[in-house]
Amino acid sequence: MSVTLSPSSRRFARLLALVIAVLLAVVAGTGFLGFRYWQERQAVNLAHERSRQVLETLDRLKSIIADVEAQRRGYLLTLDPSYLKAYGVSDESVRRDAQALQALVVGDPLQNHRAGHLALTVVAKLREIDDIVKTAQTSSGPAALAMIRSLDEIRSQIDQMVDHERFLLVDQEKRAEALEQRKAWLIAAAVVIVAVLAGAALLLARLEARRRRKAIAENVALHSDLLARDKKIRRLVDANIVGIIIWEVEGRILEANDAFLRMVGYDREDLTAGRLHRTMLTPPEWRDRDARIVAELRRTGTAQPFEKEYLRKDGSRVPVLIAGAMFEEGTSQGVGFVLDLTERRRAEEALRQSEERFRTLVQFSFDVYWETDAQHRFIHQEFAESLADAPATGSEIGKTRWEVPYLEPDEEAWQKHRETLDAHLPFRDFELARPAPDGSKRYVSVSGLPVFDQTGRFVGYRGVGRHITERRRAEEALRAMQAELAHANRVTAMGQLSASIAHEVNQPIAATVTNAQAALRWLRAQPPDLDEVRASLDRIVEDGKRAGNVISGIRALIQKVPSRKDWFDLNEAILEMLVLTRSEALKHGISLQTRLAPGLPMVQGDRTQLQQVILNLILNAIEAMGDLDDATRELWISTEKEAAGGVRVTVRDSGPGLDPADVERVFQAFYTTKPKGMGMGLAICRSMVEAHGGRMWASANEGGGAVFQFTLPQERDESIPAKHVRPNSAA
Ligand code: ADP
Repeated sequence: MSVTLSPSSRRFARLLALVIAVLLAVVAGTGFLGFRYWQERQAVNLAHERSRQVLETLDRLKSIIADVEAQRRGYLLTLDPSYLKAYGVSDESVRRDAQALQALVVGDPLQNHRAGHLALTVVAKLREIDDIVKTAQTSSGPAALAMIRSLDEIRSQIDQMVDHERFLLVDQEKRAEALEQRKAWLIAAAVVIVAVLAGAALLLARLEARRRRKAIAENVALHSDLLARDKKIRRLVDANIVGIIIWEVEGRILEANDAFLRMVGYDREDLTAGRLHRTMLTPPEWRDRDARIVAELRRTGTAQPFEKEYLRKDGSRVPVLIAGAMFEEGTSQGVGFVLDLTERRRAEEALRQSEERFRTLVQFSFDVYWETDAQHRFIHQEFAESLADAPATGSEIGKTRWEVPYLEPDEEAWQKHRETLDAHLPFRDFELARPAPDGSKRYVSVSGLPVFDQTGRFVGYRGVGRHITERRRAEEALRAMQAELAHANRVTAMGQLSASIAHEVNQPIAATVTNAQAALRWLRAQPPDLDEVRASLDRIVEDGKRAGNVISGIRALIQKVPSRKDWFDLNEAILEMLVLTRSEALKHGISLQTRLAPGLPMVQGDRTQLQQVILNLILNAIEAMGDLDDATRELWISTEKEAAGGVRVTVRDSGPGLDPADVERVFQAFYTTKPKGMGMGLAICRSMVEAHGGRMWASANEGGGAVFQFTLPQERDESIPAKHVRPNSAA
């Protein structure tokens, strides 16, 4: 087990070691110095003692020699043998002391040499004195004096030795004194060092005490922090929002919360019995992946979130998202977080299916699905492959080169479309042309809805497009057919009206002839009445114009002209048709009544087509009333302003009328009750009115007879495709 120290503890330990090392060094040093002092002291003491003994011996030697001298001199002067009593004793002790002295100064070469010399001198002198003493009877005073002189030599040798020894003694005392001083210094230094070390130790101890107090406080804080964290983690585990497991890295699951147990369908008993193991929970095909994750865990300590499946106790599978981390480096346990992905998978699957349904729906309903960004640039298109000419991704609506060559719809419509886009409004069935790869025109009808994000910010459009080229062609073919039919219908009507028309033309011609004859008459008069001539000519011009108008009206109706779009006065157009039919009505005894509203707004559309509608209605009414035996035959034609804007035209007759069941049927193509009828008149009329954005219907007249009405919008709605009124450039 390794113990980790805090940085402050480590610092303290280092300081302590240093102090102990210094202390040990000081103790060793002091011991060494003390030992040296003791040795030196011992040596000094020894030398001192020896010097003292040397001096004592020398003293003794000196007094013995003095005794010997006194005895010998006494004997020599008196020749009294009593002086010689202790003679032998003195000789012996002199010899002994001289030897002892030699032994004492053996360590001092100079003294040793002197002592040796002294001993030899003493022995020689004593023998010399003995000789003198033996010859004392014969010799006299001079011998004694010589003897004394020879003893003086010994004395001076002894004195030399004494001086030397005293000098040594003084030196030894000085050394002893110096040693004593050193001892005092040593003690003082030791005291100071010990005091300093004691102070340092005290300081360290106090620092350590403070550090420990702090560490304890920190530990307490840490502990309570740990407790709080533990509580939080416990809360997370118990909240069962996610599955939490504690595992051994080799696979055993040691702990798990209820969320996890629920997920895998095991209970707590299985867990405590140690029956939960990764290998057992993992389907075989996931095991390799697991092994890689475990390797990563061992290497890095964490496993990034990854998806896998667990096997439930009942054998079913549950998709999960799992992530894990080892507790600490060197341990074999860790914690894992497990999220049940079943719901998400289900939602994803539902989303996928819904998208599939949507795709199928769109695919069968539309030719293309598209999306644009906030700048109206295409960002996404689907099924566009069917449109070989689909706009490129990134190109802007209305700004692609495709729209320009034809500019269909026209510039104004494009402008309006652009305004709709910029106002982020929905649009429907905007029809535009683009060139197909073979150069032919293709028509596409597009619809789009603006898309806003959660904050209400516009992010672009989503929409669909449909190929309408085929439809356009069919419509064009139908239009051409209708035009043919309408023409045929008009020609037929003209045939019906031929007598009446002849009459209408005849009348102004007859009047012209009459007026011309009158003019001639006024010219022949004397004097000619030129005013009357002028009046007659004016009438001729009027009649000529009238006839011309009738003819041009007929021409317009019979001529095959492409449909046009003009502003015109509806009342005037109706009056022209009344002129054409007046005679026919009169022939059948029908009274024609009109109530044309003054100040009627101008209408926009194809004048000839609308005149044909009116003509058809009038002729039908005349025909219906023609079969009546004798009854009032009346035809009312009126125009009025609609409350909602626009105009309404009513053609009412007093004929047999319509069965309520037939009010719709009469508009069906080929429905006729007439032996020579085509049954196309009313069908054509209705389609023409509707092409102008209006409505046409029939009803029973209250007083008997039929009522046919149609409306036209006052202002043409721009959303109505222009196809019905534009000249057909493809034709
Ligand atoms: P056609 O005139 O060739 O029969 P139409 O479409 O003009 O074709 O008329 C269809 C039918 O509607 C007529 O055959 C007739 O039965 C009925 N019908 C038309 N106008 C009137 C009317 N004013 N009164 C009664 N029936 C009418």
